[in-house]
Amino acid sequence: MSPNRRRPLVGGNWKMHFVRDDAQRFCETFLAGGALPADVVLFPSFPLLATVAAALEGSEVGLGGQDIHPDEKGAHTGDVSGLQLVDSGCTWVLCGHSERRQDHDESDDLVRQKAVAALRYGLTPLICVGETQAERQAGRTFEVLERQLRAALTAGPATFTLAYEPIWAIGTGETATPEIAQEAHAFLRGLLVEMLDENAAEAKRILYGGSVNPQNAAELISKPDLDGFLVGGASLDPEKFLAIIRSCGSDS
Ligand code: PEP
Repeated sequence: MSPNRRRPLVGGNWKMHFVRDDAQRFCETFLAGGALPADVVLFPSFPLLATVAAALEGSEVGLGGQDIHPDEKGAHTGDVSGLQLVDSGCTWVLCGHSERRQDHDESDDLVRQKAVAALRYGLTPLICVGETQAERQAGRTFEVLERQLRAALTAGPATFTLAYEPIWAIGTGETATPEIAQEAHAFLRGLLVEMLDENAAEAKRILYGGSVNPQNAAELISKPDLDGFLVGGASLDPEKFLAIIRSCGSDS
């Protein structure tokens, strides 16, 4: 890792997987992996937060929710608020993951409201943006990324982290090539320069997500604007997840 590089960050998005025993076992194996060359955050589903928070206590691994409701409390069956996430030990939350945008019709504006709510509770929103296969084929990738980013960033201060997750690469086994990923990340960073300022944009970590595994991680992370990963499937296996994180420390 070059000395000036942003410290990598790797998130594990467990989606709707695991019960408490699995989560406990994962944490035991994972924490036995020793010192790591990246910051790490786990995003378990809501019923696992307490188990994972207890298992991670005393470690440097962060905890995040997979979603947040814009309101603090109220008649919102099935939703979880920022207050509840903080109370469960979270310091992070995913906002605008493509599975939420698709399965729950989340609009750009709702993603913005969620990011606002996260910031209100001191949670760092990990804002996900990415294009569909059809949008890429139609040459609309940059237009989509810009629309999603601009909408989310009217959320307020620069306390957020960004993940580029091309939808065609999520859970498909089809990873973006390092060149495709770098092109999108450089585009996003260019927008950040315009929307924040040069220093803030340079300091901002932009994660890549989409079928990352121990085989493709080192080449992806070698690209200058990739600062880590948001990992779905491979984050369910502690050894694979550790291997991905360790690849962030090799200066390949
Ligand atoms: C994700 O859930 O954000 C993701 C990138 O999933 P996968 O690694 O399985 O493609």
